Amino acid sequence: GSQLGNTAKKICKCRHTVALIPGDGIGPELLNHVRELFRFCCVPVDFEVVHVNSASTREDDINNAIMAIRRNGVALKGNIETNHTMPPNHKSRNNLLRTSLDLYANMMHCQSLPGVHTRHKNIDIIIIRENTEGEYSSLEHESVSGVVESLKIITRNNSLRIADYAFRLARDKGRRRVTAVHKANIMKLGDGLFLQCCKEVASGYPDIEFDSMIVDNTTMQLVSKPHQFDVMLMPNLYGNVVSNVCAGLVGGPGLVPGANYGRDYAVFETATRNTGKSIANRNIANPTAMLLASCLMLDHLKLHDYANMIRGAILTTMNETRLHTVDIGGQGTTSEVVQSIMRIIQSSGPLTTEI
Ligand code: ADP
Ligand code: MG
Repeated sequence: GSQLGNTAKKICKCRHTVALIPGDGIGPELLNHVRELFRFCCVPVDFEVVHVNSASTREDDINNAIMAIRRNGVALKGNIETNHTMPPNHKSRNNLLRTSLDLYANMMHCQSLPGVHTRHKNIDIIIIRENTEGEYSSLEHESVSGVVESLKIITRNNSLRIADYAFRLARDKGRRRVTAVHKANIMKLGDGLFLQCCKEVASGYPDIEFDSMIVDNTTMQLVSKPHQFDVMLMPNLYGNVVSNVCAGLVGGPGLVPGANYGRDYAVFETATRNTGKSIANRNIANPTAMLLASCLMLDHLKLHDYANMIRGAILTTMNETRLHTVDIGGQGTTSEVVQSIMRIIQSSGPLTTEI
């Protein structure tokens, strides 16, 4: 196409519609900031907002949310609070959403951020977590009084496809090693099958190193020598634990974005999926994780220029203006951080690109 010069604003005729699920706790306020920032940056994305009432026992809301994602292909969401008094076969709505859409791969890229003080520097770990089965199968029962059985489901198909996802991603991103995390010494059949599938897939990727580590040792190694890890691959519950450890390593749950991918759909949220009820509506939550999740979403939509522009301004705010929220030792409010990001975007001029 023709070039309109450096000051031209990108004119994109193709707009995208994305489902937006505010969720509970800090979700609604953080997603309002995303919308504000997208409007400010003229991001060609429209949101279809779907509210899910977590207090209701009806499933209409979550079904509408799932339908909205099927329609649009992509969603950005806050965490939906889970009512723990529901019967055991009742899946959390977040879990129902992920399994209904077969979002089998959870991806978290845990990177040290400039300007955030942490014990370990230069951390760069990708965690791939199986997102549909394992301990999250909601299959529990009391077989006789005082005896509970919780079923952990590991299947060959789902283990092979998550392993393949991890190795493909490692190759695409120029990574060198994949480490499978397991407890196959105790769960010989379940984790044994998972590990076996990882080995089989690894043999098809001779350019990527493969090793494995038992989950208890893994958490210890992570807090003492985190730089040894590159790409980590694991079943569902270990993924939950390990991703929280890794978020802690780089500064906490307010900083790291996460993505859930399936064959057909993609849903973006914060990596550790916190509701943050106790800090909701106080303008103190760290907006970084959700804003970075929105950037991952823009990358997924191939709106890389917008993603890079917003990401750059987030990092500048973090590193140069040192405007930090309380969770990372600062005194800034959520909206002050967002305003700083907008000022930085404004001062660097409109988005310039070839069209
Ligand atoms: P709760 O169970 O109380 O809702 P969560 O499990 O949602 O808490 O979150 C765990 C901890 O992380 C809480 O102390 C919460 O305040 C904190 N947290 C989560 N998200 C953020 C954020 N975006 N900014 C600051 N703190 C956060
Ligand atoms: Mg919690």
